[in-house]
Amino acid sequence: MSLKKPGRFRNSLTFRLTLWYAGIFTASSFIAFFLFYTLITSIIQEKTDQDLLNQAGQFSAVLRERGIGAVENFAIFEAQAAGEQKVFLRLLYPTGQAFSSSNMAYWEDIAIRKEAIGQLLGGAGRVFETVILTTRRDQVRILYAMIGPGVILQVGQSMENYTRIMDAFRGVFFVTMALLIGLATGIGWFMARRSVSGVEAITKTAQGISGGTLEKRVPVKDRGDEIDQLAMTFNQMLDRIQSLVSEIRQMGDNIAHDLKSPLTRIRGTAEIALTTGKSLTEYESMASSAIEECDRLLEIINTMLMISKTEAGVEKPTREKIDLADLVREACELFGTTAEDRGLTLSCQVPQRCVIAGDVRMIQRLLSNLLDNAIKYTSAGGRVDVSLSQTEGQGTTLTVKDTGVGIDAAELPHIFERFYRGDRSRSESGTGLGLSLARAIARAHGGDITVKSSLHEGSAFAATFPPSEKDVSA
Ligand code: ADP
Repeated sequence: MSLKKPGRFRNSLTFRLTLWYAGIFTASSFIAFFLFYTLITSIIQEKTDQDLLNQAGQFSAVLRERGIGAVENFAIFEAQAAGEQKVFLRLLYPTGQAFSSSNMAYWEDIAIRKEAIGQLLGGAGRVFETVILTTRRDQVRILYAMIGPGVILQVGQSMENYTRIMDAFRGVFFVTMALLIGLATGIGWFMARRSVSGVEAITKTAQGISGGTLEKRVPVKDRGDEIDQLAMTFNQMLDRIQSLVSEIRQMGDNIAHDLKSPLTRIRGTAEIALTTGKSLTEYESMASSAIEECDRLLEIINTMLMISKTEAGVEKPTREKIDLADLVREACELFGTTAEDRGLTLSCQVPQRCVIAGDVRMIQRLLSNLLDNAIKYTSAGGRVDVSLSQTEGQGTTLTVKDTGVGIDAAELPHIFERFYRGDRSRSESGTGLGLSLARAIARAHGGDITVKSSLHEGSAFAATFPPSEKDVSA
């Protein structure tokens, strides 16, 4: 299944990132253009308005100093000087009627706006307006100003030059923008590809893995970015999955091996029973050895199920208030005879009372596994010491210490694995499940089991149980 199918292109992250990038770039460019355009337009308008006001000021001075006749001539002269197509001047009565003007041949469209006159008479010192001349595709800025008693000046200036500049500016802007948007889309595409290339590598690796190999890893580019972190996390996850899968494979092999021997023996016994004529006592003995083998098989299967259920949290320990000291004493009593038979000293140093919250059945199983091992792996003349300590707020520690064969440092990390059996333990009976179950039980109680051991000197297993309200209230 490829991510590059054309139908999926529009949904791809690269496409969406590019679209966002180009979109944001275009929107911000247009906002910048709009602000710039508005600013320039308002500056131009301000300058034009100022020119018109200056002109009105000059006319006012001419009227004051030289009379209305001079103003009329001045209007004609001014329009001619600036260009009659660019400027017009008209003198009006307060009624709005024109009594003199420059050449208005180019300005026939320009009306005299009664409202503007009204505003002037109402006290406004000046009134501006902008008129669009449709015939010339031009804008005209017009000022109405009272330049003397009963004399209104209407002066207009063509904005043609500015309009042309702004048209050119707009043209340049749109062409530049089109090019820049193209460039931005290209850059956005490149950056998006770069960003998601790491994700694609991860996807590719994941697809390869679903195809069967667990050895593949995503290349980490050492950039320290989020993609690198994702790649590292993904690789760590693969490491864990790989070790889990190999553990499962190993376990499968071990199960097959452990089940094969008793099954072969049962089959052998049954075969002998079938092929040869036997006495009743012999049949009985064969049946009982088959039962023994079946029991062994059942024990393995039941223990495995119990470990799985306890680890998965399906088999949850009941949290009753139990006296661990009592359970340890009982276990020591139970194993006392075996220890004695093997020529060992079993000592049990426990306080009068040591209450924890736990499951009696499970704790008994944990105790018997640790004690059974300590006795099994200690030769005659050795010692097994069981002790218990409880510190308020710190929890409870059960220690089973022996002076037995000890465990090789290389074997230590594996002894809690299912079906693992040390080299030196082959001569003893066992399934390699005892410690796995003991640790699963301790962990289900919120605690753990740790071990310290030296080869030929002995081992000390410590099972810890966390403090609980029940401990304190006990
Ligand atoms: P087993 O059925 O072999 O005893 P366990 O899971 O109880 O299985 O123990 C796993 C391995 O840990 C044993 O095979 C043995 O090598 C080692 N081990 C456990 N307890 C002791 C101990 N007290 N002294 C030395 N080795 C031990």
